[in-house]
Amino acid sequence: MTKLSDGDQALRARASKVIPGGMYGHENVARLPAGYPQYFARAEGCRLWDVDGREFIDYLCGYGPNLLGYRHPEVEQAARAQADLGDCMTGPAPCMVELGERLVDTIEHADWVLFCKNGTDATTICLTVARAHTGKRTILRARGTYHGAAPWCTPVREGVLQEDRAHIHSFDYNDVASLEAAVDKAGDDLAAVLLTPHRHEVFQDQALPDPVFVRRARELCDARGALLILDEVRTGLRIAPGGSWERFGVRPDLSAWGKTLGNGYPVSAVAGTEVLRDAAKRIYTTGSFWFAAVPMAAAIATLSVAKREHVSTHVEVIGQQLRDGLAEQALAHGFGLRQTGPVQMPLFLFDDDRELVRGNFFAAEAMRRGVLLHPWHNMFLSLAHTDADIRRTLQATDAAFTALRKANL
Ligand code: PMP
Repeated sequence: MTKLSDGDQALRARASKVIPGGMYGHENVARLPAGYPQYFARAEGCRLWDVDGREFIDYLCGYGPNLLGYRHPEVEQAARAQADLGDCMTGPAPCMVELGERLVDTIEHADWVLFCKNGTDATTICLTVARAHTGKRTILRARGTYHGAAPWCTPVREGVLQEDRAHIHSFDYNDVASLEAAVDKAGDDLAAVLLTPHRHEVFQDQALPDPVFVRRARELCDARGALLILDEVRTGLRIAPGGSWERFGVRPDLSAWGKTLGNGYPVSAVAGTEVLRDAAKRIYTTGSFWFAAVPMAAAIATLSVAKREHVSTHVEVIGQQLRDGLAEQALAHGFGLRQTGPVQMPLFLFDDDRELVRGNFFAAEAMRRGVLLHPWHNMFLSLAHTDADIRRTLQATDAAFTALRKANL
């Protein structure tokens, strides 16, 4: 029974008895500085309130899904209207078809889509479709890239068999020679090359894609009759609605989408080209909740608002303001701060800070001043972040830089 008086510490103590480790997965704050909230009471726009009543400007956006602002009125209205009719039924509601049509219109390379719940579902289905279509086994992926938590891709090997990873091999992101060598090694068994639009791994600088690498990946797949799979789970709708590699003139055969699609409502998708329609028909994939109507209604509203409000432009403008402000402050306070990746998905790391002593201290100081940053995972901007939020954030980070300077770490 939840007691209203339960604060973060009390909830953690209770959780430690009934939830393994008290908390698990990417939202576990055990690796964040002390004082980071684990439990939240409420969310609105770009703000979060923890169970102890503290208010934050949130730069995690639920680790991505919050694209338009928490509890966006149009999305909530669409979800409520569908909830009044039915959600998880014996078959889908008409909104499934409409969402399919909208996504095929939105995602440039897509001729069809199928829906699931999480990003891991979507990336895993991409592999299955690729293998069904090509009749080949080998999947090449960039070393260290996160594609989800299934045995074939989870970053932690505990409980995972070598066999779960059979026929999955790695190359280095943005390294043409490394990709070519992996393709050669795969020989005539290459089913697909799987990539994220840019490198966005934890604890390291993000890397924008080298256009030469992007085009070579496409060429190699074409030459070998293999498929190019783009994992847009983290980037989707924030970087470019039609696809993150459209600007390079490179289209994937398959793409995986999740996180933002329903602005927080659980729905993910696989998109594919015409030639793969038959393979997508032949595989068997499903789930009890995959056809639930409320998330699909929410996703239709999310796509409408995202398009009307030009969300990817907004997050780029606002993200640039944050990046410029932080760069100016770092310089003024005498710190080397590397800000990497697209401004819509910021990540910053301090120079000479392998143990993250400065990064953790800085993030904790900002958090104490009402700004929720992450010291080693990329962050996210949303449509709800305004100029005023960035100004307020920069006041907090200026104070955090001052505290860091005084601490002399
Ligand atoms: N691919 C990428 C690039 C991701 O960032 C993630 C989640 N962070 C996933 C796949 C898996 O998504 P989910 O957690 O929804 O299963």
